[in-house]
Amino acid sequence: MATPFVAGTRGAVLHRGLVDLLGEEQVLWQKHDLQLYEYDGAVDTATPDAVVIPRDTADVANLARFCSEHNVPLVPRGAGTGLSGGAIPVEGGVVVSFARMSRILELDAANLRAVVQPGLVNLHLSTAAAPHGLYFVPDPSSQKACTIGGNVAENSGGPHTLAYGVTTNHVTGLEIVLTDGTIVRLGGKAHESEGYDLIGLFVGSEGTLGLITEITVRLSPLPEDKRTVMAAFPTMDLASEAVSAIIASGLVPSAIELMDQLATVAVEASVGAGYPLDAGAILLAEVDGPRDGLDDHRARIEELCRANGATSIRVAETALERDRLWAGRKGAFAAMGRLAPDYYVQDGVIPRTRLPDVLRRIAEVGERYGVRIANVFHAGDGNLHPLILFDGSLGPDVLRQVKAAGVEILRACLDAGGSITGEHGVGMEKNCELPLQYGPDDLAAMLHVKRAFDPAGLANPAKIFPTPSRCREFSLHAARSV
Ligand SMILES: Cc1cc2nc3c(=O)[nH]c(=O)nc-3n(C[C@H](O)[C@H](O)[C@H](O)COP(=O)(O)OP(=O)(O)OC[C@H]3O[C@@H](n4cnc5c(N)ncnc54)[C@H](O)[C@@H]3O)c2cc1C
Repeated sequence: MATPFVAGTRGAVLHRGLVDLLGEEQVLWQKHDLQLYEYDGAVDTATPDAVVIPRDTADVANLARFCSEHNVPLVPRGAGTGLSGGAIPVEGGVVVSFARMSRILELDAANLRAVVQPGLVNLHLSTAAAPHGLYFVPDPSSQKACTIGGNVAENSGGPHTLAYGVTTNHVTGLEIVLTDGTIVRLGGKAHESEGYDLIGLFVGSEGTLGLITEITVRLSPLPEDKRTVMAAFPTMDLASEAVSAIIASGLVPSAIELMDQLATVAVEASVGAGYPLDAGAILLAEVDGPRDGLDDHRARIEELCRANGATSIRVAETALERDRLWAGRKGAFAAMGRLAPDYYVQDGVIPRTRLPDVLRRIAEVGERYGVRIANVFHAGDGNLHPLILFDGSLGPDVLRQVKAAGVEILRACLDAGGSITGEHGVGMEKNCELPLQYGPDDLAAMLHVKRAFDPAGLANPAKIFPTPSRCREFSLHAARSV
């Protein structure tokens, strides 16, 4: 029979139970420790009742059984770089940090597979695979810090997933601990497994179905060579037209990224990537693969950029120059600190051809709310990342206004036939907006799926699905501001 902890006493009682179960080393409970787990890369915060840092799957399963008996929520956490509040314990409970489960268990170069623990940092996998001529394709701009577990939970993309697919295309096996402590294994090293695509279901489930404790990923051969082109345009409209022209030409670049002038100014101050400061837009495009033919593809991209108004073009001549160009793009979010104390990043997707219209609507939103908005995004995928700049020290009203501006941007994406998230997930940041995209029947069907795996609702509660308390307050505010 479940013995729920009583609010207020939960922390102390929980701490004693967890230490008895797992040992002192695995449990954090003091206020100063818990404060470190109140945050992720988004803007909301909440304090956990305890943090557990398991050593292996058995620890996770024991923890889940214990929490199930006592009706305590479980909130998985990788590196906390998530941008939708996914790792925030909004209803309290235990944050499960995978920092100690960060090993590569097997690197099977012959089968192009690696078996890894969820806390492995994304870049560490590609670094380990490089001597075998292999790499892990998904490369979020946060790849120096984010974990493979977080990538799987968010179905993350990255600048180079345009040609080769996002995380779901590179996962072939999972080990999962359900909230009742059951350990489930799905797939393995083979290309396909029979029956329903349950791996596909877990990838992108944002920790709401269970805790991922082991991942089998596909490794890909490193391309023989690459060509990287930076083109400067007077306006975002012209750069967007160039993106559509490149895709329409039949070329499939491994990456096409765009950033506007505000972002460029921040990047140059922070990274010094060599982008021209007077450009209205900077486009980065890369083609890779067999060396033969790459120069033709590069030349075609240059030609299409010129035909669409590029004022200057630079091609990286060396690996060092290429790294410098990418350092600018990958460091763009962090560079926002040069412009404002805080930023709030949105993550909508639209059909590529609607880029000019939607970018104009984003600029209008910025004017109406009196906020500066920088744009840095995966243009090839139509995946926008408007960064709304603000100063959170000016009080909670500022953040509320910024969030309301964010909702308007999401509405613009939906109006253009897009979606409210491309790769950062719904989390606790957009769960109130999910009904803008899905009707009650769709949401009910998704909830049935969640309940099939997590009947007690203990896996990362108050994420993805709207919750009455938070969502009512926010939609009233948003309605007032529009
Ligand atoms: C500067 C910057 C750049 C970024 N660029 C990109 C980008 O280009 N593309 C992109 O897609 N994202 C990007 N992100 C977002 C973020 O890095 C990714 O979503 C990443 O995959 C999160 O990994 P994490 O380890 O930090 O996960 P966390 O933030 O710790 O968690 C994210 C979600 O995953 C769940 N989770 C974590 N581990 C597990 C597990 N073992 N089992 C079950 N659920 C789990 C959490 O509960 C949470 O819901 C960026 C973020 C920053 C700060």
